Amino acid sequence: MPSRAIDRNAKEAAGPPPSDFGPARAAAPILAVNNIEVVYDHVILVLKGVSLQVTGGDIVALLGANGAGKSTTLKAISNLLSAERGEVTKGSIVFDDSEVHALTPNELVRRGCIQVMEGRHCFAHLSVEENLLTGAFTRRDGHAAVGRDLDLVYSYFPRLKERRSSTAGYISGGEQQMCAIGRALMSRPKMILLDEPSMGLAPQLVEEIFSIVGDLNTRERVSFLLAEQNTRMALKYARYGYVLENGRVVLDGKAETLSENQDVKEFYLGIAEGKRKSFREGKYYRRRKRWLA
Ligand code: ATP
Repeated sequence: MPSRAIDRNAKEAAGPPPSDFGPARAAAPILAVNNIEVVYDHVILVLKGVSLQVTGGDIVALLGANGAGKSTTLKAISNLLSAERGEVTKGSIVFDDSEVHALTPNELVRRGCIQVMEGRHCFAHLSVEENLLTGAFTRRDGHAAVGRDLDLVYSYFPRLKERRSSTAGYISGGEQQMCAIGRALMSRPKMILLDEPSMGLAPQLVEEIFSIVGDLNTRERVSFLLAEQNTRMALKYARYGYVLENGRVVLDGKAETLSENQDVKEFYLGIAEGKRKSFREGKYYRRRKRWLA
């Protein structure tokens, strides 16, 4: 498949026509996470007062190393922690004016908030198309509407159309990631919580998937909260970012500002004054981290 335009300014010219997924663009936060703490197994304190916001129609990046708490934050928002014996013990999460803990994960999906889990989970024994259709199970608007959205998903992911009858377990990792995102789209989300879409994929595929995420945001107005270790790619597409360390937000700001931030450059981009540095050399960052902790 020809890769989509990476230049964000050129995106309006590319891709399928916009449909009516997602909300109208608005400045109000569609998601507000307020000072949450998360505990696993009643004793393991993993998130220690995380706050963040996503404005409707935005892409926001949640950055951080392995174990920083990115997936836990997403699962807290999508109300999936209980499956892992985790719970939000403090703070609140509001999605589109509703407190998420008053809702089941199903209801949350119906209201427009859906998570694409890390590891591109697909139903391995179902075909690609059957996988996509499972994403519409919360909908009540009939076959015709679901069929139109299936066509729309195929227009964003032509590879999936080519592979529509293939067994999902046998398609490539990149195609499985596309299938997982496509399945989420079938629920007509206002917001997708996307966990590590780049994980284990070749750089060219990562570019392709991020470019499609950018298109979905621009053209379909779907908001994204994007948990990523690939800081460079996430900041290329996000408008705003939060850096999570050891269960705390240690830095946040506009994507351009974070990309230029000395700490982010040294620790997450591995660059200092134009040359690459090892993490061990990021002394300034480590001093500052100790201070923030
Ligand atoms: P990664 O990119 O490796 O997934 P992450 O930033 O998403 O990292 P989390 O998966 O949220 O981090 O994990 C944060 C911390 O919580 C880690 O120390 C992890 O070991 C711990 N943790 C995650 N899930 C559980 C669980 N079900 N029970 C106990 N501890 C957990």
